Amino acid sequence: MLRDVLFVPQFKLNLLSVSSLTTGTNLSLNFFHDQFIIQEASSRKMIGKGSIIQGLYVLDTKDFNSVSDAFIGSVSAHVWHNRLGHLSFKRLDVLKDHLPYDTEMSNKHLPCYICPLAKQRRLSFESHNHLSNQPFDLIHCDIWGPYHVTSHFGYRYFMTLVDDHFRFTWLYMLKQKSDAVGAVHRFFNLVATQFRAVIKSFRSDNAGELSFKDFFSEKGVIHQFSCVERPQQNSVVERKHQHLLNVARALFFQSRVPIKFWSECVLTAAYLINRTLAPILHHKTPFEVLHGRKANYSCMRVFGCLGFASTLNAYRTKFQPRARMCVFLGYPSGIKGFKLLDVSSKQIFIPRDVVFHEDIFPFHTIRSNDKVLDPFLIWFYPHLHYLFHMICMWIVIPLLLQFISQVHNPFLNILSQIYLMPPLVIDPVESLDLHHI
Ligand SMILES: [Zn+2]
Repeated sequence: MLRDVLFVPQFKLNLLSVSSLTTGTNLSLNFFHDQFIIQEASSRKMIGKGSIIQGLYVLDTKDFNSVSDAFIGSVSAHVWHNRLGHLSFKRLDVLKDHLPYDTEMSNKHLPCYICPLAKQRRLSFESHNHLSNQPFDLIHCDIWGPYHVTSHFGYRYFMTLVDDHFRFTWLYMLKQKSDAVGAVHRFFNLVATQFRAVIKSFRSDNAGELSFKDFFSEKGVIHQFSCVERPQQNSVVERKHQHLLNVARALFFQSRVPIKFWSECVLTAAYLINRTLAPILHHKTPFEVLHGRKANYSCMRVFGCLGFASTLNAYRTKFQPRARMCVFLGYPSGIKGFKLLDVSSKQIFIPRDVVFHEDIFPFHTIRSNDKVLDPFLIWFYPHLHYLFHMICMWIVIPLLLQFISQVHNPFLNILSQIYLMPPLVIDPVESLDLHHI
């Protein structure tokens, strides 16, 4: 849906601004000497076209209405709920004006069976609700792990760094706890290069085991220690950890990916939390406050869903598949795109073109022994409940009522007679009232 449209009653034509069409949307336009096309940028699906008439590009509105659901249609609140890591519908309601497509909120009261499994109740202590005056005045740090399952890339820990002013979260995956020292060095370099800022204070409870001391004294950074037994002293990062794990669990239960992909769940959770409105930031997102621009939601998809990535022409013969069947595993760091797992080769890659099916989750049908099922079964499995519903409606219930009708219970007999009643057929000859002729 187009926003900020001006209506001029006397105007005979509708003019469309190309920059308005592409700003904040997931659309790209290609102009040729005789025509132009509008595509959904991520899937390259054509959603509109037009031709040149007397030097002007004219949109073909007939085709446009029929092919475009990305442009004029809406994405349901439940799809956004899933895309955003099971964000509460109350917060989704506030966020909906930031989303690129119209959000259909009418079905928001449908139950979600993932949320109760994933969300832990809040910590008993409150996080401090005032922000540092300046960016990077104070960084909160904590390390989570070791997790008993080593991740796909060999990680067992992750380090969370939260800026007290922006409440933006940076996550570093660690193979061992001592890797945290190198990660902190890299973080200081990142802040200096990307934001031209210096970190003044650093709060953590891991000082004893990690040799930050020399590095901080060299940089002139004040190291604030928090007591391990009193997590409320480091409440900002403790709360952030709980939030990260709540969202990561929701992504894990929703996708049913093998547990070795826990690191992908946590990284995606951090990505989503940075793009979620925070009441403490006056209902802005940490991303918006840090970068000074709104996050791009058009590239978001449901974690763990099915995707078909196009194969390159150079690597395929006439009868080889045109796409690879994949599972969506989040967003690559520093690159615009999607991180996909090829279900056959188990390779993780970042494709150029991909088409998603956000209601199909391949790992719901791939068993723990990693046996890959037929693509048709992966597609068919989510539709099984429709088949079950039809069998119940047309076979099981009529048989049950037929049986009940044998029992002498007046109420049940009436019920079964109504259900089993043949359709009313009116004979056109008999239905005529002959007495009036
Ligand atoms: Zn949910």
